[in-house]
Amino acid sequence: MIYPIIGLGHPTLRKIAKPIDKDYPELEKLIADMYETMYAADGVGLAAPQIDLSIRLVVIGFRPYDEKTDTYGPVAEQHTLINPEILEYIGEKEYFNEGCLSIPDIHEDVLRTEGIVMRWFDENWQMHEDEIHGMFARVAQHEYDHLEGKVFTDHLSTLRKTMLKRKLNDVISGKVRTSYRMKRK
Ligand code: ZN
Repeated sequence: MIYPIIGLGHPTLRKIAKPIDKDYPELEKLIADMYETMYAADGVGLAAPQIDLSIRLVVIGFRPYDEKTDTYGPVAEQHTLINPEILEYIGEKEYFNEGCLSIPDIHEDVLRTEGIVMRWFDENWQMHEDEIHGMFARVAQHEYDHLEGKVFTDHLSTLRKTMLKRKLNDVISGKVRTSYRMKRK
């Protein structure tokens, strides 16, 4: 099932999400639906608050993209993060151009560390504690923000946010068109 995605301005995106336990109802189905929702929207990460569920659950997935045919190959790597914790920020800080399914049409350079040490449970409730780098670390930090009620534009300078004000207001008032379904407040 594909969930509609909520946009900036929806109160759930500003809540601190709650941890879940093994008794969470139909978790397996929810995780599968989150992957389906993310891939249908051409995203590389989706946090449960983005589908209006204030729980600490994230899916991340990478598929090779072929520019010539404008199609995606099979999933190359995916990670389910249940109750993730960032234990340490490691490596150099670097800029990377980020976007967000909840903030359509806005792409901005965001400064984050290249790596993190993270602890999380996967979909089988196996605990992981790993140093992660590259795209996985980048997307994990972006998605972790969603669990803390933050979005990537919060990281921008006041000047940049002022410059984006009109575009951000368009998102908040639902004036943007998306290829995927969005849910209003
Ligand atoms: Zn996002």
